[in-house]
Amino acid sequence: MTLINDRKLNEECGIFGVFGVHDASSLTYYGLHALQHRGQEGCGITCFDNRELNRIKGEGLVTEVFNEKNLATLHGDMAIGHVLYSADCNRKLDNVQPFIFTHSTGDFTLAHNGSLVNSTQLKKYLEDKGSLFHSTSDSEILAHLIKKDNDSRDRLFHIIDALNMMEGAFAFVVMTASKIYAIRDKHGLRPLSLGKLNGGYVVSSETCAFDATGVEFIRDVEPGEIVVIDKDGLTSVDYSKFKRYNMCAMEYIYFARPDSDIEGTNVHSFRKETGKLLAQEAPVDADIVIGVPDSSLSAAVGYSEASGIPYEKGLIKNKYVGRTFIQPSQALREKGVKMKLSAVRSIVNGKRVALIDDSIVRGTTVQRIVGMLKQFGAKEVHLRIASPEMTHPCFYGVETTNGDELISARLKDIEKIKENIGADSLAFLSVESLYKAGNRSELCVACFTGKYPTPLYKNQQ
Ligand code: AMP
Ligand code: SF4
Repeated sequence: MTLINDRKLNEECGIFGVFGVHDASSLTYYGLHALQHRGQEGCGITCFDNRELNRIKGEGLVTEVFNEKNLATLHGDMAIGHVLYSADCNRKLDNVQPFIFTHSTGDFTLAHNGSLVNSTQLKKYLEDKGSLFHSTSDSEILAHLIKKDNDSRDRLFHIIDALNMMEGAFAFVVMTASKIYAIRDKHGLRPLSLGKLNGGYVVSSETCAFDATGVEFIRDVEPGEIVVIDKDGLTSVDYSKFKRYNMCAMEYIYFARPDSDIEGTNVHSFRKETGKLLAQEAPVDADIVIGVPDSSLSAAVGYSEASGIPYEKGLIKNKYVGRTFIQPSQALREKGVKMKLSAVRSIVNGKRVALIDDSIVRGTTVQRIVGMLKQFGAKEVHLRIASPEMTHPCFYGVETTNGDELISARLKDIEKIKENIGADSLAFLSVESLYKAGNRSELCVACFTGKYPTPLYKNQQ
């Protein structure tokens, strides 16, 4: 496979929407705050105040973009919001969502998570028809496709037509003056859940944002489903008869918060189960089990429980390393200035460590961690990874580098990877165990197997 070299903006991102709840912008603010782990580059909220759509958006964290004063200017009981994870540093503000579009049949606003595999083709088609794009985001494609036929049919039919032209991974919230549409792609790649509060409705990328805002979970939006929320309640429409449940495995492994439930499985429980299965598949003689904070801690607990090796907090994360933290120079790093993670000398000194990490992408993070544990006196470091070897790029919006930077694709041999990282032994979880951990028959595991659940286009092959 030729790997892509024209990688565009990748959007893991988080979306949130509120219909029929007093002070919808405040609720959206707290929802986005709970989804902050899904994107720290930018965020925004659009509200409808019975007259017009009003929006505030900016680069940075939710707490940096919003304050009591500007939030108080967003009135109304309908709102949508977005947190952006962007690999495109050049046009960041242009890509911060929600986007607002004006149209003869009424303005609308939308926010999205995911990535289309046919965006190049759709953009060309739309530009040939006269559309002008303001961002590099796939969200605009949906908007232009919705607007392309200027006939008098209900907007829902334009949305259905548009979605049927789009291929890939996406979750959308679209808001008009009277409705919110919550949409998931027909392959089921990206998560989106539905909840209720005080007679109104809420949608969110993850259920952790419901728990944080007192919202009662109703159900997940189904693959290929459009949930229309308006004053009459909920209506469900399938935009496609094709329906699969290929949820992104990386949502469970790394991306989602452990307190979220995705399609009925709690993320912490999934990770703990991968740790248990890993202990069965790749046992090791060690004195302690250590997880890399934060995303590997659940798997480390599982590994410890299944192996009987005590779990220890051998690595501590400094929670105050934010986006704007000034990274120490190479010279200071060599002198021992640690950034995000520190090893606990009294715990690791003289020990044989089973180190659990959720995944290896480039291999640079774990190489540094293994080096640090050894520097602090660990006798042996046995690396156990709670996911399979990542060998292929993701075309569905998860930034996993452009393929040739993946250490498993580059070195191709576990022994070589082990040596490169400096570990005493190395093992990965099997693909079968990923399915088993979530008790699932379908799951996207394409970055581990190269078997993509959607068709791919010329620029991806
Ligand atoms: P590295 O191997 O140095 O590229 O970093 C791998 C670590 O980054 C993993 O242990 C995860 O905790 C985390 N990670 C995995 N996938 C991603 C991703 N798509 N974006 C950012 N971090 C990730
Ligand atoms: Fe997730 Fe990997 Fe599938 Fe991308 S290829 S959607 S990262 S499982």
